[in-house]
Amino acid sequence: MKILITNDDGIYAPGLWILAKELSKVAEVIVVAPDREQSAVGTAVSLRKPLIVQKITPLAPGTQAYSVEGTPADSVILALGKIVDKVDLVVSGINRGANLGEDVLISGTVGAALVGYLRGFPAIAVSTAEWDDVCLTNTGRFIAMLASKIHRSELGNNVFLNVNMPMLPVTEVKGVQITRLASKSHINTVEEGHDGKRTYYVLVRQAIEKEPEEKTDIWAINHGNISITPLNIFFGNRFSPAVLEGLCSGLLDELK
Ligand code: MN
Repeated sequence: MKILITNDDGIYAPGLWILAKELSKVAEVIVVAPDREQSAVGTAVSLRKPLIVQKITPLAPGTQAYSVEGTPADSVILALGKIVDKVDLVVSGINRGANLGEDVLISGTVGAALVGYLRGFPAIAVSTAEWDDVCLTNTGRFIAMLASKIHRSELGNNVFLNVNMPMLPVTEVKGVQITRLASKSHINTVEEGHDGKRTYYVLVRQAIEKEPEEKTDIWAINHGNISITPLNIFFGNRFSPAVLEGLCSGLLDELK
């Protein structure tokens, strides 16, 4: 099995290397990641600037590593276009901080996994709110086991998973829940400040505190479970297309 690893916390983030170390026990590992932190850039790509790639000394023995002066998505596109021909899996993480609900739309961790998936490779994004070496190692071990199972499964390339770990020691984790995204996970507000000359604004995102719906990713995490959310690239909607068809009928005639 050959695995491409990337992240959005940058090539020297501990989560990346603990993941690389654990995955290298079950697979050949190639690390290609941004040279600096790129959290919350989603699937952004650098279309109009040259991208510098540097081979670096890997921090996990037996792996190869490259740093990219670009985004997480750039790293995956470059890796799959120039560094490796074909991989069995793309894994993005281990991100510092959870990526739940609406987070998947802006997360660079999930964005990088999405790019791998769109290029036809199974992909996993993995995040954890807990941040000590023991938790990261257990998260890495869990992903290594999951990767091996997926590789031997019938799922083929149609795998795009968002994995989040609860803030608990592994002995206290309740279970593994297959979840859907929580629909409303954050409140977005704008705070105003003054620097003496100008007014500036700061975008603030706060997690919603109300109890989430059962079987959503946030619910699973709040109840001490590992959450695995299968994702696809289509945004669902809550009404039948017929309603919108009725609403839009005649618009073009009017325009003409
Ligand atoms: Mn991050």
